[in-house]
Amino acid sequence: MIQSLTTEEIRKIVGDQQEAKAEPVLIHHVIIDSRSMLQPEHTIFVALKGAKFDGHDFIPELFELGVKCFLVKDTYKIQKKLEGKIELIFVKDTRVGLQQIAAYQRALFESPVISITGSNGKTIIKEWLGQVLAQKYAVAKSPKSYNSQVGVPLSIFGISPYHQVAILEAGISKVGEMETLQNIIKPDIGVFTNIGTAHEEGFASMGEKLREKAKLFEHAKYVIYRKEHDQIAEFLEAEFDASQLIAWSDQPGADYTLTIKKDLEKTKILLIKPDFQMFTFTVPFSDVASLENIRHVITTALTLGMLPKDIQSGIDHLKTVDMRLTLKSGYNETLIIDDTYNNDLAGLRLALDFMAAQRPKNRKVLILSDFMQVGQPEEVYQEVAQLIKHYGIDLLIGVGETIQVLEGEVSCSTIFYKDTEALLEELREDSFDSDLILVTGARVYGFERIVNKLQQRIHGTTLEINLNALTHNYNFYKTKVLPQTKIMVMVKAFAYGGGATEIANHLQQLRADYLAVAYTDEGVALREEGIALPIMVLNPAQESFHHLQKHNLEPVVYSPNFYKQLGKYCRTHQTTMKIHLDLDTGMHRLGFDQQQLAELKDLTAQFPELEIASLYTHLVGADEAVHEDFSLHQLELFSKMCQQIAGFIGFMPIRHALNSAGIIRYPAYQFDMVRLGIGLYGVEVNGIYDAALRPISSLKTTISQIKTVDAGETIGYSRKGRLSSNGKIATIAIGYADGYDRRFSNGKGAVLIHGKKAPIIGNVCMDMCMVDISGIDAKEGDEVIIYGPGISLKELASNIGTIPYELLTNISSRVKRVYYLD
Ligand SMILES: *Cc1c(COP(=O)(O)O)cnc(C)c1O
Repeated sequence: MIQSLTTEEIRKIVGDQQEAKAEPVLIHHVIIDSRSMLQPEHTIFVALKGAKFDGHDFIPELFELGVKCFLVKDTYKIQKKLEGKIELIFVKDTRVGLQQIAAYQRALFESPVISITGSNGKTIIKEWLGQVLAQKYAVAKSPKSYNSQVGVPLSIFGISPYHQVAILEAGISKVGEMETLQNIIKPDIGVFTNIGTAHEEGFASMGEKLREKAKLFEHAKYVIYRKEHDQIAEFLEAEFDASQLIAWSDQPGADYTLTIKKDLEKTKILLIKPDFQMFTFTVPFSDVASLENIRHVITTALTLGMLPKDIQSGIDHLKTVDMRLTLKSGYNETLIIDDTYNNDLAGLRLALDFMAAQRPKNRKVLILSDFMQVGQPEEVYQEVAQLIKHYGIDLLIGVGETIQVLEGEVSCSTIFYKDTEALLEELREDSFDSDLILVTGARVYGFERIVNKLQQRIHGTTLEINLNALTHNYNFYKTKVLPQTKIMVMVKAFAYGGGATEIANHLQQLRADYLAVAYTDEGVALREEGIALPIMVLNPAQESFHHLQKHNLEPVVYSPNFYKQLGKYCRTHQTTMKIHLDLDTGMHRLGFDQQQLAELKDLTAQFPELEIASLYTHLVGADEAVHEDFSLHQLELFSKMCQQIAGFIGFMPIRHALNSAGIIRYPAYQFDMVRLGIGLYGVEVNGIYDAALRPISSLKTTISQIKTVDAGETIGYSRKGRLSSNGKIATIAIGYADGYDRRFSNGKGAVLIHGKKAPIIGNVCMDMCMVDISGIDAKEGDEVIIYGPGISLKELASNIGTIPYELLTNISSRVKRVYYLD
């Protein structure tokens, strides 16, 4: 925080009139979840109510962890046992309270605040600008994409008094939100990146979207924009004072002219300043989006008064690769969190949070470089020491000169190296064993070399899973059901191909209520990896009963016979088991039908060892309007059967019927729980909310070889492939053994290379296939996208007459899964 506050001051800021019950406490930290806590006794917890959960529920837990001060809703009733022990500050709306504290903090910061808004490029501009400005200043910036109504306040709390400039992102999704963000951020310099033409939910028109976004800059000293973005330029020039506006353009006529000159190797940007001084920047990329983003960065840095040569030296250190936090498998059962791009405290905290969310492994190892260019290193390293303690790091490997001040100052073992080369020299594949290793450092240290050395060599094809997108989809469905409705997530079939353990672990973080797998061994695997959520097993076999019992798995019982077998097993072993009853209302696959309820009644009386945890049924056509009548018939029948069963067992177990499609179509029948499957993985099978979900996975491979082929020649097995004229083909490292369906042969499928579609040519082979890249500028080793953003799974599936479920679950286990947070 910029300045610590007493609880009394906070009370004033948020307008709570009540008398304090205890002595004022000095608050250094504001948190909204327990993971990010450093000094509990100096922390205030703001209890937010979200779609996911209600922060008020965690107050007793946080009290146990040492937190004494809470910002709560005025209707909150404190538990008896906490009375007098904690300090409560009451407000009508805790989110507003959080924002008020942030606005107060912001007002205490006297150095420039830069804020970025627009449709695209916000996060990358923020990151690049941060790196360029770091050549001269101590920079605070919002972590990753903390740009929302809650994210912005949290970013403000990340600013410290020694920072010399702060960069904050602002994102809004509907009218009215920007005013709040404006009030908090109060930017001195604004950057308006661009505005998408796509219709965005939440805005009636383009004009409204522009007006709303521009609100952020109402009181800014300067607003930076690109002259070629006509709509933005017209709007700003009409609504803002000319002295506020700073435009850049390719052409003369704006404040800064920034013209692109491409040559073979590099791209140059020729700058002409308002005073006609000139300078040429050299940048390491040539794509349109990056060139636009970097020119926003240059203009902003110039506006702050940075010299072109310092800006250039910042650009020389830019990393163009994405800045995601990724989880990779290393040698010797290690897990590596790759954060080789990051070099600030806020980023380190996020990475440590991500680390804390991973399954327990052997040691927690942090490989960390010097922090570059910060105002007061002592304070920064003090905080690093606190973080190391808080997150229970077992070993710190420090690389660089200044980080050595931590020697003897941290709670864990330490090893220091003067540079990355010295560390690499000693690093071997077996240096670690089953450890969880976070690798994070400034770009100049080249820590990607460390990750390369520790990471298992991978076959060219990977399935990348975006855990943030998964969270987004989970929360989307959470908003579609009532707050009290439980969510069971289907992680059967390797979590629809995504990798059951990592996904289950993430769902555990998201506090899902239940998991379901198809077979017992899938459940056992999850337990062995430390997943503690209740797990339902859809189709357990008799041989697996003792595994069910040993691992606390809850089987589905679907027939009288199976009921008897399981009941007898439990009786013989003098144990009880939680079970789930599958009721057949029309699927005619497994399950009790109505005629069998009398028999069920006898069985329940005969085997009290089996505790009925839930009753469920499955819809046969939830995703299709034509089956609406039948679905409703199923749901009504289910409801009736549940009543009957409750009648003879004397209580009503949890009832659940809806799958992903059903949650959308039949919200009135959510009963006590819903079963989320494909929707979590980013496919809205009804086609109603396609735009609201995010694809969670991308399947990628690389080009192994490129050949030129004449029109007459044939390509691949059975001489099926042929080009219509002379051209080029690429052989890519994926085949049907990886799960790339053979039905994609001969142009039924296409892949993306550098954003262009390359159709499959000839038959798909076992481990490879060939694509037509005539007219695409590509080289061996380049990335190939099989599906992901840009190639929709639904479209691919329909091209070969199947459903997305089949494509997802077919991806072979030899394809490496990589998890990341974007
Ligand atoms: C797989 C499965 C689901 C999930 O279905 P989606 O269409 O993927 O949402 C729900 N219930 C049962 C019994 C299932 O087998």
